[in-house]
Amino acid sequence: MERTKFVLDEKDMPTFWYNILPDLPVPLPPVMHPGTGQPVTPNDLAPLFPMALIMQEFSPERYIEIPDEVQAVYRSWRPTTLFRAHRLEKALDTPARIYYKYEGSSPAGSHKPNTAVAQAYYNRQEGVKRLTTETGAGQWGSSLAFGCMLFGLELKVYMVKVSYHQKPYRRIMMETWGAKCIPSPSLDTNAGRTVLARDPESPGSLGIAISEAVEDAATRDDTHYSLGSVLNHVLMHQTIIGQEAKKQMEMAGFYPDIIVGCVGGGSNFAGMFLPFLKDKIDGRKPDLRIINVEPASCPTLTKGLYAYDFGDEAGMTPLLKMHTLGHKFIPPPVHAGGLRYHGMAPIICHVYKLGLVEARAVGQLATFEAGLTFARTEGIVSAPETNHAIRVVIDEALKCRESGEAKTILLAHSGHGHFDMAAYESYLTGKLADYEYPEDRVREALASLPQVPTA
Ligand SMILES: *Cc1c(COP(=O)(O)O)cnc(C)c1O
Repeated sequence: MERTKFVLDEKDMPTFWYNILPDLPVPLPPVMHPGTGQPVTPNDLAPLFPMALIMQEFSPERYIEIPDEVQAVYRSWRPTTLFRAHRLEKALDTPARIYYKYEGSSPAGSHKPNTAVAQAYYNRQEGVKRLTTETGAGQWGSSLAFGCMLFGLELKVYMVKVSYHQKPYRRIMMETWGAKCIPSPSLDTNAGRTVLARDPESPGSLGIAISEAVEDAATRDDTHYSLGSVLNHVLMHQTIIGQEAKKQMEMAGFYPDIIVGCVGGGSNFAGMFLPFLKDKIDGRKPDLRIINVEPASCPTLTKGLYAYDFGDEAGMTPLLKMHTLGHKFIPPPVHAGGLRYHGMAPIICHVYKLGLVEARAVGQLATFEAGLTFARTEGIVSAPETNHAIRVVIDEALKCRESGEAKTILLAHSGHGHFDMAAYESYLTGKLADYEYPEDRVREALASLPQVPTA
């Protein structure tokens, strides 16, 4: 039997993050200031982020050193394991070789602590006492709670209201690590009060929660804001995943033909594929395929418009050029998994536009079916987000069965689903339905896009 686990020694953990910006064949469109219509400057962002992270956001350096204190924390669960999915391959009767890099072994159960720890560290370094953030299902809030606990920062988390009530365990996890978590929209901010005045029953959305967290941070001197995905520096912190995976694929003796991952804001998958994308851009691996998988109920890349939009509902953030469903987008509450953000990381949208990566949308029934197949072969009960990627891995492996090709498929496995038993139960008891976001609602939400004079 061939090997199942590819384990790196602690000393082989990468000590640098990889920054794609200098290697992009076409420069990334600038982030725009909504007031001036000009590209934002580091000073514009200073009320929200520590200067070290702002510099990383625009850095021309290819490699950025991971601070020793951050490395020390990483080493409590990194390097993470790369697995060969022998039992899944057998069950699918496919000649494909399937590998998965598992990020579920972190304390919070996903890839998110890779950036949460770094962000908490840099804020502490610059004397910040308190952070705010938003969270959907709670993975980001719990990861940042973990990071803030390590570096002695206070944290207030605005949690999307529908999840706050449906998913109490992530909230309790945040509180266990010492953070405060409240449902959003809340009465604590102008942004929240405005939404509640319009719609007292609002289920909330990530966009609304971001508005609240940004307002809270912008109006207090001791407080910064932290974002768990989308921004360049967040994706860069996640490149530890792809750099480790490259070494592990070398141990396995195969370079991937196809890399698959799920995308919400895009951080876990970009963290996996950016170090490999460099090989494609450099011409060493021209045939490498990179597939971004999103839910049919929040089809940002596959149905959204590539345009400048706000990152939040109230329109307080700088404008990002990204595929968007419109910042007024409210995801359908029937949707069981995460991945509900209206926008997408500008880096992913840019390389998608350049034709360097692909995108696919999958329905939620097919997604959970794939998750069950994975759990019943590999054993891991995956996060509903991850199941989207598993769906496409299985589809690609089945194509290999048809064609007889022994392709190498690498899955970015973003986390476990131990807090998502209610979603699994809905699926197992036949209560989950497919939902495709209607074309006219997409058009409606897009009508609210801001005007950008110089774009
Ligand atoms: C948050 C999360 C995602 C989606 O976020 P990205 O920034 O797109 O990675 C995917 N999987 C898991 C397990 C998550 O917690």
